[in-house]
Amino acid sequence: MQAIDRRFGAVTVLVGDKNGKYPHGNSLWIEGREGTAVIDPSLSVVARRDELAGRADLVIQSHVHEDHVAGVPLFPAAKVYAHRADLIGLQGLDGLMAIYGYEGLDAAMRDFVVQQFHYRARPDAHGFDDGDAFALGGTQVRVIHAPGHTRGHSVLLIEPEGVLFLGDIDLSSFGPYYGDAWSDLADFEATLRAVRDVEARVWVSFHHVGVIDDRDTFVEKLDRFAARIAAREAALLEFLTEPRTMAEMVCHRFLYPAHATMPFLDAVEERTIQQHLDRLLREGRIERCDEVRYRRLGRS
Ligand SMILES: [Zn+2]
Repeated sequence: MQAIDRRFGAVTVLVGDKNGKYPHGNSLWIEGREGTAVIDPSLSVVARRDELAGRADLVIQSHVHEDHVAGVPLFPAAKVYAHRADLIGLQGLDGLMAIYGYEGLDAAMRDFVVQQFHYRARPDAHGFDDGDAFALGGTQVRVIHAPGHTRGHSVLLIEPEGVLFLGDIDLSSFGPYYGDAWSDLADFEATLRAVRDVEARVWVSFHHVGVIDDRDTFVEKLDRFAARIAAREAALLEFLTEPRTMAEMVCHRFLYPAHATMPFLDAVEERTIQQHLDRLLREGRIERCDEVRYRRLGRS
């Protein structure tokens, strides 16, 4: 294992390129007495194929997105697991496309995940549920369903080490991502409340912050991450002081910087905005002024 890796008992954090900045990520490698598991094998695991290929008995996914499954083909003999709700994304490319749900971008996304992330279907993959545990001999991986980013997104608690793998609750300055067909804002908010109370000693996110080993720092970063949701909603409300169409809101960019050009940006902006609009309509804080435009009510 490389010097940069962090070790906690049976758990090694395979720290990714640029501390796991997308498209890379931080993966976990767990060596029990009776078996070895890798969690979310990233492009940085692919780069270490000479050292790691074929050495895991289990591949366990926090969820199924291109950057989290890039290293799955290194372990053809391993049993591969994801939460039942995300399983179709492992079993075939059609399933992965359903998870994204970006209309009109199907061909571009298929090419993107196969060419840049080495995607290969695993029709033999298995599903797990909340509360399931994988015993590896002296250490185990316990599943805590934490949906919102995707329907099946789960955090994984490794015991007795007390390492909590957060997946894409990535504590980044971007904030929570809930822009896919498989995403849900309200679920993500419930997950952010629940994950705060999980007993752990070390927290590992797939991207950016990597390893955190004290609770105060974790809670501070979690609160800052969660606050991005309210900041987006406030910015949207401000923008709706004038009546606006969805096209105008997408063009304004509430998530991505104006210079970003990935093909899926508009779809993600729209799905994110729509979830906030639905909530603001329900709460009576905005109204539809005609067929296509929304407007803020009052100054709440
Ligand atoms: Zn993800």
